[in-house]
Amino acid sequence: MSLKFYNTYTHTTEEFIPGGVRKNTPADYDAVSIYSCGPTVYSYAHIGNFRTFTLNDLLRRYLKYSGYKVEHTMNITDVDDKTIKGANDNGLSLKDFTEKYTNIFFEDLASLSIEQFEHYPRATDNIDSMDDIIERLRNKGLVYEKDGSLYFSIAKFEQYGKLSNLEKRETISGARYDADEYEKDDARDFALWKASKENEPSWKIKSMDGGRPGWHIECSAMVRKIYGKTIDIHTGGVDLIFPHHENEIAQSEAAYGEPFARYWLHWEHLLVEGTKMSKSKGNFYTLRDLTEKGYSPRAIRYLLLSAHYRKQLNFTLEGLKGAESSLEKIDNFITRLNSVNVEETNRNKTVSDAVELYLKDFSESMDNDLNTSGAFGAFFEFMHTVNPLLDRAISKEDKEEILSALKKTDMVFGFIFSDTKTIDAELEKRVNTLIEERKQARIDKNFKRSDEIRDELLAEGIILEDGKEGTRWKLKK
Ligand code: AMP
Ligand code: ZN
Repeated sequence: MSLKFYNTYTHTTEEFIPGGVRKNTPADYDAVSIYSCGPTVYSYAHIGNFRTFTLNDLLRRYLKYSGYKVEHTMNITDVDDKTIKGANDNGLSLKDFTEKYTNIFFEDLASLSIEQFEHYPRATDNIDSMDDIIERLRNKGLVYEKDGSLYFSIAKFEQYGKLSNLEKRETISGARYDADEYEKDDARDFALWKASKENEPSWKIKSMDGGRPGWHIECSAMVRKIYGKTIDIHTGGVDLIFPHHENEIAQSEAAYGEPFARYWLHWEHLLVEGTKMSKSKGNFYTLRDLTEKGYSPRAIRYLLLSAHYRKQLNFTLEGLKGAESSLEKIDNFITRLNSVNVEETNRNKTVSDAVELYLKDFSESMDNDLNTSGAFGAFFEFMHTVNPLLDRAISKEDKEEILSALKKTDMVFGFIFSDTKTIDAELEKRVNTLIEERKQARIDKNFKRSDEIRDELLAEGIILEDGKEGTRWKLKK
């Protein structure tokens, strides 16, 4: 099976072909160019936002798993109504205020095991690219000025509304709008550049002596600056389909005369009691709210990935507790696997069959428009088959094959191993030797040495558990 995505732009599920020209294998393609709309850095992001950001990570990880190279960009919106107000209210420069929240955002991404992308451009560092688009649009007669702001005239861009099926709605063209947030269905001429007000930062562009960028132009500008051509995939939460992404398409395609993006993927929302989790509704949890309550970022990642991205996901603390207990089962399984008795025995066909089935079901589900719930199912089925086999000794090869399937799929899941150290064979060997030494020390009643070993390992984040079957070990969460 080949990788397929539901493309919002064509409203159909399509085979993924980077660059638009089919090649033999994923490795033959140039790096897949991805652009994901990033955060507005005026406060802590909530876990609804992190559903979106975790799904961006999932997409990138699965492309890599499938053998593609990726070049991924996420912008940082560091100038808009909210960041300007936040900086003013806190008596900070816009730069200092937004850097603070950008750093917090990066810390949160790291704790959710979200990989580092190739580019994180800031809007305020890219005014020159915005100026370029505005100039091109002005030369084509698509821009008009009103009260010091520049507007894009949507009536002059024929395909306006294709992404969001806007033709089915009533549009009000020729009316102007320059706030960063719109009413749904309200298709008005949008501000490319906003007149500067008092106490607001201001930049000069070729056609204006001052002012600041509108929100939509920043993404169009960064895509052009970084990739310089049509990109493969553009992503964002479903709320961005209209007007943000519609406006990005209009500006970019009108300015550069070529398609903006081939595939549009939109992540559904995280809900709380049936409504979208959002700052303005006040029904949100930040990552830190939850970690302070004792929940692990790993469980949050697990929960956010558990549902298919095109389905809304209702957030509850009960659901998060469920994620924690699933992870406990996974940890116990890994502990059993790490400490299983290895003997020189024949290979067990049940193991190789289970591994083969797991990897097949995993990639079939993920190829099918990133169906994570199917992939989770395949993983639990695999654990279920392998777990009873660990009651007895297994062959070294079987153990390695199981571990390697888990490591491979964890390149995508990012939650199976609570720490990458678990998968380090060196560490495993060292810990097992120390466990043996400790066993002997206890037989010799050398409790000082046995405690020393336990404490030494604990300092490294390794917990020893003594049980009937001997000593098992696991990594501290
Ligand atoms: P913002 O910082 O408000 O620009 O939002 C950053 C990203 O989070 C955007 O791609 C939004 O679509 C996304 N987002 C906002 N609320 C939610 C939610 N409740 N569930 C999933 N994604 C969301
Ligand atoms: Zn954007």
